[in-house]
Amino acid sequence: MEPELSPQVAQALPDVEVQHIQGGAKAVQEYLEYRRIVGDDDQGKLFTPQEYEDYKKRVIPVRLRNRLYVSWRSPTGMDCKLVGPETPCFCTHRYKQHKTDFEELPSERPIHLPCRVGHCQCKGYLYVPLNGTSPIRCRCKHFADDHSEANGHRCKKCSKCPGFHSSFTCGCGKPAYVHQTVVETKEERLAQGKPVGQDVPYAAMGGLAGFSSLAEGYMRLDDSGRGAQPLAFLESSGSRMDHPFLKVYSPELEDASISTSQQVPGVMIEEKDLAYFEKRHQERLTRGKTSKGLKTSKDPTPSVPEQP
Ligand SMILES: [Zn+2]
Ligand SMILES: [Zn+2]
Ligand SMILES: [Zn+2]
Ligand SMILES: [Zn+2]
Ligand SMILES: [Zn+2]
Repeated sequence: MEPELSPQVAQALPDVEVQHIQGGAKAVQEYLEYRRIVGDDDQGKLFTPQEYEDYKKRVIPVRLRNRLYVSWRSPTGMDCKLVGPETPCFCTHRYKQHKTDFEELPSERPIHLPCRVGHCQCKGYLYVPLNGTSPIRCRCKHFADDHSEANGHRCKKCSKCPGFHSSFTCGCGKPAYVHQTVVETKEERLAQGKPVGQDVPYAAMGGLAGFSSLAEGYMRLDDSGRGAQPLAFLESSGSRMDHPFLKVYSPELEDASISTSQQVPGVMIEEKDLAYFEKRHQERLTRGKTSKGLKTSKDPTPSVPEQP
């Protein structure tokens, strides 16, 4: 993988500095890639390169086979929210902190994705929308996070509330309480004509279907993101882990960017998630172009732009 510095920037810097910057950028990329794949499965202690390889060989094929898609669906059938790794649950923990990898998919429906944070009572991931950046209120007037994360979602601040219920109006015009958090398999989504995006090795992708479809308007049925090469991925990037770097940089690195929501046609996604996956997508495109360029450069005829 060639590190990227724009030619203008690279020219303006002494060689040593360019190498230093490129090395650093590459190490950051590899760290982020590691974190996206491993999530918290290393229990906060970075895997050795060998452990990382073993983890990928063991987990990624299962993850690709048993991927679960999570969205927040309006009764009209529209996915008003695609849940991504950073999307908070009713329990306030993020989607990636819930159980999302299954060796065997459960046969009963709905599929519950319980929270893995110690002492959290959340029995299944439940999306709750925000009003801008603020939590929404229940009919009891208390906020969503004033309610218990345990089943029933009783209010912890008053006794009259029989359970969280919000009339907050979603962008689709329907109240929040008629929406459902839907957890479904790839086959179940395809059967409904919903996009499934590209196969990716990352943990807790939830409903994110891939980059191009998200960038250009998610609801358009778009299969251009499909047909990835998971094997090529397994054999390529991420294997050259730079351990001195990983010892220096702490896991807080990933949380340095703040996750905010943005509105794209008909769907809300986490900016942080999108930025990351879009970047990976662009990298893949660039790599494709580079390898084509290498083949043509063997051609002795210099390429001259055609004159009209
Ligand atoms: Zn939780
Ligand atoms: Zn939860
Ligand atoms: Zn309430
Ligand atoms: Zn209340
Ligand atoms: Zn809606």
